[in-house]
Amino acid sequence: MNPALPWNGVITISLEALAGLADHPGDMSGFGCISPDLARQLLKAANSVTLLVIDPDTGAPVGVSDRVYVPPGSLRRKVMLLTHTCSWVGCNRTAERCDVDHGEPFDHNNPAAGGKTTLRNLRPLCRFHHRLKTFTAWTITEHNDRSATLVSALGRTTRRPPPAITDPGEWEPAWQPEDHDDDTPPF
Ligand SMILES: [Zn+2]
Repeated sequence: MNPALPWNGVITISLEALAGLADHPGDMSGFGCISPDLARQLLKAANSVTLLVIDPDTGAPVGVSDRVYVPPGSLRRKVMLLTHTCSWVGCNRTAERCDVDHGEPFDHNNPAAGGKTTLRNLRPLCRFHHRLKTFTAWTITEHNDRSATLVSALGRTTRRPPPAITDPGEWEPAWQPEDHDDDTPPF
């Protein structure tokens, strides 16, 4: 690739392949599967590229960063790349059709005091679940490993695994309620 060419694409690659420790294939947006060598060369040569790093075992995104240039709107784009569906447990609405929710609420009267507009504090929520979180006693708390704990208005706790880049239906194990001791089938 000519480094002078503006190319605002996404290279997806595992951390091991990025470091040259494994030969997992990469992915180039608009092109498809590419060799790990080509992925590493493109990352070195491109003027503007978004790097998405995935866990090769689960396909879950573990990091995303812009190289060199941060285009307008890229924060929303990164939120969508890291989490492909609504962040609520069991909701499969695609992130492109979701709102971007501040985990720690943004303070419109005093932005310096409220939650920040940073990748760490943003996540996609569909309009229904965004309203459920904003207007009811439901809470969703995200953890450093990108899993989350949801507490219902009645106090029931559910753990959501880190978002997978693959179709959630293809990713095992599925989420489990944490307080399911009494529900365990006898077989
Ligand atoms: Zn939802």
